[in-house]
Amino acid sequence: MAGFDAFLLGEAVKEGARILDGKVDSMTYAASGMPRLTVSTQSGEQVSLDAAFVAIATGINGHYGHDYRDDALIASVQRLNPAFVPGKSRKALIFELDVGEEYLERNLRREIYFIEYGSKHLAIEHTALIPKGRFLTVAMIGKCIDAAALPRDSQRIVHDFLTLPQIERILPGIQAAPLACACAPRMAVTPARFPFGDRFAIIGDAVGARLNKDGLFSAHVTASRLAQTVLHDGIGRQALAKGYGKAIRWLAADNRFGRMVFGVSRVAFTKPVVSRITYQAFATECKVRDERSRPLSAVLWKISSGTADYREVWREMCGWSVLRSILAGAAVTLRNVAFEAFFGLKWGEYGRYPTVVLKEKREALKERLASSLETEIEESPEFERMYVIKIRGAAEEIMEELAQFGGPHARFLNLRFIEVRRIEGLPNQVGSVIRYRIPLVGVGAELRLTRVIGFETLLYQLDGRLASRGKLIFNVAPAKDGNSRLSVYAAFDYKKGKGFAERVLWMGAKVLFPEFVHDIVWNHALCTIKEEVERRHGYAPERLGKLKHAPPR
Ligand SMILES: Cc1cc2nc3c(=O)[nH]c(=O)nc-3n(C[C@H](O)[C@H](O)[C@H](O)COP(=O)(O)OP(=O)(O)OC[C@H]3O[C@@H](n4cnc5c(N)ncnc54)[C@H](O)[C@@H]3O)c2cc1C
Repeated sequence: MAGFDAFLLGEAVKEGARILDGKVDSMTYAASGMPRLTVSTQSGEQVSLDAAFVAIATGINGHYGHDYRDDALIASVQRLNPAFVPGKSRKALIFELDVGEEYLERNLRREIYFIEYGSKHLAIEHTALIPKGRFLTVAMIGKCIDAAALPRDSQRIVHDFLTLPQIERILPGIQAAPLACACAPRMAVTPARFPFGDRFAIIGDAVGARLNKDGLFSAHVTASRLAQTVLHDGIGRQALAKGYGKAIRWLAADNRFGRMVFGVSRVAFTKPVVSRITYQAFATECKVRDERSRPLSAVLWKISSGTADYREVWREMCGWSVLRSILAGAAVTLRNVAFEAFFGLKWGEYGRYPTVVLKEKREALKERLASSLETEIEESPEFERMYVIKIRGAAEEIMEELAQFGGPHARFLNLRFIEVRRIEGLPNQVGSVIRYRIPLVGVGAELRLTRVIGFETLLYQLDGRLASRGKLIFNVAPAKDGNSRLSVYAAFDYKKGKGFAERVLWMGAKVLFPEFVHDIVWNHALCTIKEEVERRHGYAPERLGKLKHAPPR
């Protein structure tokens, strides 16, 4: 037998252990007071084994799909210690899709996704998408899996999951991928109580695990704590309660806090309004705060990675720093919703994607734009905004979409009250002019395309009467995963005006068009451009074709 189990058994043998293959049917106490195991060996004979100490590590999955609480051995342990209450478990659905390395490289490069919501008809709570070599592992829990009569229903769940719109967005064409394997193991969801007695103790999954995480780590904690207790404190019930009991109490507390953490995070990610606020809070942190002082990001990382005890996660979740980020997110969301309505921006069929440039990455982006244009970009303009989005498409295809800028059929920058029109020249050609105009007021601004660097960069310059050093730059660069990154950079200095009246006029313009308006408008525009490119150039069907011909495992 290969694998981790075999490796561990091999190490134990090296230390002098002897392996007896078989199934332990029950445990009783012999007249000597030692635990006596009845073992059915592989040859079919029954062997009695008296042991000075028994560590039970039966897991919760060696019982042919039945709940391990119905197991004969566990029942015999309960007879020895009536206070022992086995933990509860629930089914998970784990399947692997053979999608090929190239597909994963393009769509999930070094990324793991957590999906917290299915649909009205697919009640899932928590799903992880993990790329492994050429396979994509999907691990999910939820009410639909609890209620499923497996394996019949699992095929339907797999199909319904892969056809969810949010999955199609992350993994286009995935529903055509061949299923390499599927299983429905149990996961511990509450720890056992009093899982020890004179000369025995239960460890590993059979005693419990951290909620939705870290089965191996939890098994390591219980096993090592038990070993220390046995070696240093004793093997009687009292000694075990004192020493080994610490690990059990840690597990119980961690599970309790874990349930609270997941309860709150489920609300944060499944209720549309709350999830928009949470996302906005996260994006605002990334935009305005230094990498090391983003409390919400830190908490989200801890929840998904499992690197901290849930007690610590809960404390941070309820702390002022995270609350302040959420309140800021709520305020920004409220403002954005109002301005989206004002400008008539509708999301409809378009998905929302992050367009924030992390604070620590802004200088690098400016340097890239400068090197593409072979020119300097001004140090600190009064107004400066940048956005980026990943698009599954080639630079030519993205430039083709940008050629719609100001055109009658453009799907982006269709704003109520502001007319954006190309009034001179040809699309994406030097000399073309885009005019932003507010017809109601009769004022406007003009952007002239002054430089075009292949399918890479477009530099528009703003009419000098309105602002100094005004620039709008579009840049398409290859992303590491073979896709493209479209960046938008907008910057200018406000006009100061000479006399009092002029100064008041320019200050008025600044108030009327605050900087955040650009964030709202460009976020919508970039998401629209992305989806238009990906749909028009049929990225999903092309991948679909590739997946259909992936070789079987
Ligand atoms: C598909 C899957 C993927 C996972 N991925 C991860 C992961 O990525 N990271 C992570 O940390 N954890 C993961 N886990 C959880 C992890 O495998 C478990 O937490 C860990 O294996 C628990 O170890 P254990 O020794 O307690 O139980 P197990 O590994 O389940 O071993 C129990 C053993 O006892 C045997 N047994 C049962 N009853 C008897 C009996 N009466 N007599 C004799 N032998 C018996 C069983 O046959 C089995 O061999 C995963 C689990 C599954 C099912």
